[in-house]
Amino acid sequence: MSNRPTETSQKIFAEALDLMPGGVNSPVRAFKSVDVPPIVMDHGKGSHIFDVDGNRYIDYVLSWGPLILGHAHPAVVEAIQMAAAKGTSFGAPTLMENELAKLVIARVPSVEMVRFVNSGTEATMSALRLARGYTKRDKILKLEGSYHGHDDALLVKVGSGVATLGLPDSPGVPKNTTSNTLVAPYNDLAAVAEVFHLYPEQIAAVIVEPVAGNMGVIPPVPGFLEGLRTVTEKDGALLIFDEVMSGFRVGYESAQGYYGVIPDLTCLGKVIGGGVPVGAYGGKREIMEQMAPAGQVYQAGTLSGNPIAMASGYATLTHLTKEDYLYFESLGTTLETGIATLSQRYQVPITVNRAGSMIGMFFNEGPVQNYQDSKASDTAFFSRYYKEMADQGIFLPPSQFEGIFLSKAHTLTDIERTLEAMETSFKRLV
Ligand code: PMP
Repeated sequence: MSNRPTETSQKIFAEALDLMPGGVNSPVRAFKSVDVPPIVMDHGKGSHIFDVDGNRYIDYVLSWGPLILGHAHPAVVEAIQMAAAKGTSFGAPTLMENELAKLVIARVPSVEMVRFVNSGTEATMSALRLARGYTKRDKILKLEGSYHGHDDALLVKVGSGVATLGLPDSPGVPKNTTSNTLVAPYNDLAAVAEVFHLYPEQIAAVIVEPVAGNMGVIPPVPGFLEGLRTVTEKDGALLIFDEVMSGFRVGYESAQGYYGVIPDLTCLGKVIGGGVPVGAYGGKREIMEQMAPAGQVYQAGTLSGNPIAMASGYATLTHLTKEDYLYFESLGTTLETGIATLSQRYQVPITVNRAGSMIGMFFNEGPVQNYQDSKASDTAFFSRYYKEMADQGIFLPPSQFEGIFLSKAHTLTDIERTLEAMETSFKRLV
C-alpha cells in the first residue's frame, strides 16, 4: 500500500467527470484500464512530473512523446515566451515557419517540402488526401494495431486508446468512409503483397508507422519497410511513413534515416512542436506541390504554422544532437538489461521492444511482432504492476498498448530508481 496522497486529484477529477466526457479531453488520460484513480498533473521539470497532491514521479509518458528534452526545458520555455510576447498568431507568413521547415527538411531524408498543421491527426488525414489526389486512386492500406489519429478513414483496426478501452471500430464513422480502407497485419509482407495482388493499381498509398507505437512498441522486422518500399513502387502507390511518434525519436534523422528506407510522404507531430500543438506532412517536391495554393488538393488551417508552436519546435530540434541519440541508446540499453535480469529473477515473462527512445514492455514471451502478439500480453498483470509503479513514483502510460519514452533529461539515476521500483513491484506481485 502507498501513502501517496490522492485527495486533490480525486476531487478535481470528480468535477471534471461532470464537465467533460469521461472527465478528459483524450480517452487514455482517464486511467480506465489500470487499477489507479486518475492522477491530475500540476507541473513538470526535467524528467519529473508533479501531481496536484504534491506527488513526484519520474515521467515516462512525456505528454505521449513530444517532450524529448524533458519538461519545461529552459530554452523551450524562453522561445515560447519570446514568441508569445510578439503576438500569438498572425494568420500570415512568419520567418520562424521557414526556420523550422529548413530544419525538418535538412534532417528528415524524404522531406523536400513541408506543410505545418496542428496535430498528428491533421497530418495523416491531409497526407492521405494528397496521396489520393496525386495518384488519382481511392484505396489506402493501413496495418492492424496502428493508430494514425482519429480521421474517419483511419479508424479501422486501430491500436492506442481504442485498443486500451477494447472499443470497436468507432460508431459515427459511416461505412462508406472506410470502404476504401484495406488492412493487413503489421510486419507481414506476404499479406501486404496479397492485398496489392487483389487490388492492383487501385491503392493510393500504404500508411505505416515505421516503428509501431500504438500497440506497444513494435519495430519493423528486417526487410519489412524495404519490402513496403518495393511493393508500393512497383504498383505506383505512395508509401507514407507516419512518424508522428517516431519522428526525431528513433534517430537523429527519424526512423527513415535510422532504417534507411525513404518514403514518398512523411507525417510528423509530437517532438516537432516540443509540447505545443503541431503536426506536419512533407515529402517529394513534385508531390507536395499538388497542395493548394501551389496545386489543387485543398487543406488549410487558421492556426497552422502558429508562431508559438514553431518557436517551441525550433528550440526543441536545435537542442537535439547526434550525441543525444547515443545517450538514449545507452539509457535504453541499461533499462532493457535491467528488465531482462528482473524478468529472470522473478520468473515474470517479459518482452522488451526498443527503437531508440521508444520502448515497449509486454508481459508475455516474445517475440512481439504484430497486434496479435501484443494483445497476448497479460493486461491484468500490467494493471496491478501499473499501480505498484505509480505508488513508487514512476509515471507510466496507463495502457499496455502505449510505449514509454526517454528524454534528454532522464538520468542513469532515474533508470536505476525505476528498476528498483520494478523489483519491489515484482516482489509484491509474484
Ligand atoms: N500518428 C501516430 C503514429 C500517433 O502516435 C498519433 C498520436 N499518438 C497520431 C498519429 C495522432 O496525433 P495527434 O494525437 O496529435 O492527433
